[in-house]
Amino acid sequence: MATATRTNPLSYLTEQLNDLKTKGTYFHLRVLEDEQAPECTFDGKRVINLASNNYLGLTTHPKLREAALEATRKYGVGSGAVRTIAGTMRIHMQLEEKIARFKNVEACVVFQSGFAANAGTVSAVLGKDDFIISDQLNHASIIDGARLSRAKILVFEHKNIADAEAKLASIADQSGKKLLITDGVFSMDGDIGPLPALCDLAEKYGAIMMVDDAHASGVLGRNGRGTVDHFNVHGRVDIQVGTLSKAIGALGGYVCGSRDLIEFLYHRARPFLFSTSHPPSVAATCIAAFEVLEEEPQRIEKLWENTRFWKKELALLGFDIGGKTTPASETPITPIIIGDGKRTLEFSRELFKEGVLGTGITFPTVPEGKARIRTIMTATHTRDELDHALNVLGKVGKRMGILN
Ligand SMILES: *Cc1c(COP(=O)(O)O)cnc(C)c1O
Repeated sequence: MATATRTNPLSYLTEQLNDLKTKGTYFHLRVLEDEQAPECTFDGKRVINLASNNYLGLTTHPKLREAALEATRKYGVGSGAVRTIAGTMRIHMQLEEKIARFKNVEACVVFQSGFAANAGTVSAVLGKDDFIISDQLNHASIIDGARLSRAKILVFEHKNIADAEAKLASIADQSGKKLLITDGVFSMDGDIGPLPALCDLAEKYGAIMMVDDAHASGVLGRNGRGTVDHFNVHGRVDIQVGTLSKAIGALGGYVCGSRDLIEFLYHRARPFLFSTSHPPSVAATCIAAFEVLEEEPQRIEKLWENTRFWKKELALLGFDIGGKTTPASETPITPIIIGDGKRTLEFSRELFKEGVLGTGITFPTVPEGKARIRTIMTATHTRDELDHALNVLGKVGKRMGILN
């Protein structure tokens, strides 16, 4: 057997990892040993969890668990094919109908993830002669979709309507299609996209209007119907994306809109055509989740009550929770801005040692100099858990000189 000594062609990756280690932004994955819950065990340590997108506590809801188990018993564990070949089960269609009714739109298509929904949709509806006008802080899956479409990308300053209009005006005489797109809730700052003003612009310039409601699904609007409902701009947003992976508690993404938009995506969205559909258990779980949104509105009320308490207390402690050099949060996502990436990750590690999981977020996920601990409130955090977390944040914040 040849034992040729071959130089490792991937050695440049090791060098880049070493760079991260020098910079102090190298991380290990924290491993959850039990359920995704407000108090749980990561790497063998009991912590208050301030990092989960499980806004309503649905990951462990008895009704959702039971739905998943029943669907598994009835239909097995997998769908066996992509949707267009043999992988469309009755339960997939039922979920799409359920979501379309909930959102009060003609039709809905479900993807394997929110990422796939965004990337698959943007790349399918636009081509190389078209334009995408995109908020600076839009999610990576929108950016990837835009790149895949080969459309020209015009980025406007975060929530800056005048800049968005300037970008639209600069291409007003171009024949290509224009897609104006924003996150409903921005995932790193927790502020809300200015939908009414953007809808006005889309109408004025004849652009397609699209919203990515990943962090608004189950959080904003009546029973968690999202930002279109929150702002009452029904009928003015052509493409609404949502996720099933955050507040809904399972996994997946969806697109809502006209019947023809959805039919078109059935024919052209590449993740739909080339990647296997959800296991029946996931579809069943999501159907049950939408029932819970309608039957248990108190979960959303509790989420907002906890959110108000949390923001008030963090500000009282003296943390920078946005609004000065970064956008001000209006949702259960509250960033604690630290600035330096290395210091942020140190803060996060110290919090963990004291029993609080607050994930540090650094460049490139947020701009250089805007590193932060992103905290997320849920409906299921108890007051005791929050008090404990606030104690630890205050203590460690002072010890590290982040608080006076
Ligand atoms: C999380 C997120 C997504 C991706 O959703 P997944 O279902 O986790 O793939 C898309 N857009 C935004 C704004 C998000 O925050």
